[in-house]
Amino acid sequence: MAVSEITAKTILRKQKRIDSWFISCCGMNLYRGCHHNCAYCDGRAEKYRVEGEFGKDLSVKVNAIDILGRELDPARKRKPLPRGYVFLGGGINDSYQPLEQKYNLTFRVLQLMYKYGYPLHILTKSTSVLRDIDLIEEIHHRSSAIVSMSFSSVDERICRHFEPGVASPLERLDVLYRIRQRGIPIGMYLMPVIPFVTDTPKMIDRTLTAARQAGIDFVIFGGMTLKDGRQREYFVKVLREYDPGLEHQFDIIYTGERWGRAIGQYYEHLNQVFVACNRRHNLPVRIPPRLYNDILDVNNKVVVMLEHIDYIHKLNGWTSPYGYAAYRLAQVKEPLGEMRDKLRSINGVGKRIASIVGEIIDTGSCRYLERLLRG
Ligand code: SF4
Repeated sequence: MAVSEITAKTILRKQKRIDSWFISCCGMNLYRGCHHNCAYCDGRAEKYRVEGEFGKDLSVKVNAIDILGRELDPARKRKPLPRGYVFLGGGINDSYQPLEQKYNLTFRVLQLMYKYGYPLHILTKSTSVLRDIDLIEEIHHRSSAIVSMSFSSVDERICRHFEPGVASPLERLDVLYRIRQRGIPIGMYLMPVIPFVTDTPKMIDRTLTAARQAGIDFVIFGGMTLKDGRQREYFVKVLREYDPGLEHQFDIIYTGERWGRAIGQYYEHLNQVFVACNRRHNLPVRIPPRLYNDILDVNNKVVVMLEHIDYIHKLNGWTSPYGYAAYRLAQVKEPLGEMRDKLRSINGVGKRIASIVGEIIDTGSCRYLERLLRG
């Protein structure tokens, strides 16, 4: 492993709008590259410009805490951050990869979160998150925290092959369970499901069973992307060592689409498999409103809830006007509470959606979304 110490100009990556997958308003990468070296990692793709050999050549933003301290300090901000979780994880690194033991950046970021009272959502594949459990618990009591872990399945052998640098799925589930015992909400990101490897009904059912037993609050599910170039070359090399017969099937579903997406029929099939499996478990497939009700402002709550309804409609193969309405409502600058009687004048907002938006404005909740999340 080669480690470069670099300095960054900025750390906080602000989002134009709340990301409804994580309920986050901003995120950060403290490291570039990831020693966990998952075979499918999107961070390997050229567009992220991680230099050197991904998984072996790593960079550390050694000045991250100084910069972040300034970026998060509300007294230095002309405009406050939008209300939402600050997201730690994913993308091109894992905040709890082995380097963290030496540099302690993540721990010091958590101290800043606590100091300034920001809600925190961590996504990791590392059991080292337990090191910071006391501090995360304090953040949760002060401003809310969620700890999520990502899985491609709970199969040990598959994990060893495709995710060589991470703890076993059972160890990770045990850590999640222990975090839940402290009263901190936990999530599973079942993504990416690896085509022809972890996408079978049996495997997904096994994973959802384990998730339920760990006391998971939600499961966010997603298929794999495979961008041509470094990501695809590395993944195919690992795949051949696992089962050389599978490469041809990957060639059929990954046809070089710009964002690395598989063909639509594959994702439709995968959605059907997931929906059928989850009928037995009824795990919420989006972060439940109770975990963001006190965090998001009304406008963002409306948009997130409509996006979640839209997602669940599409997951089930139903038509959905909700995504377009969410998009139009996200453009509205005025507080929606002051537009209560003019909602129908917004493009994409018909009678049914206006009624749902009105309910969210009046009560902060949405019975239709709650029903969909219960399955
Ligand atoms: S843990 Fe996440 S960031 Fe690290 S290699 Fe795996 S997928 Fe990539």
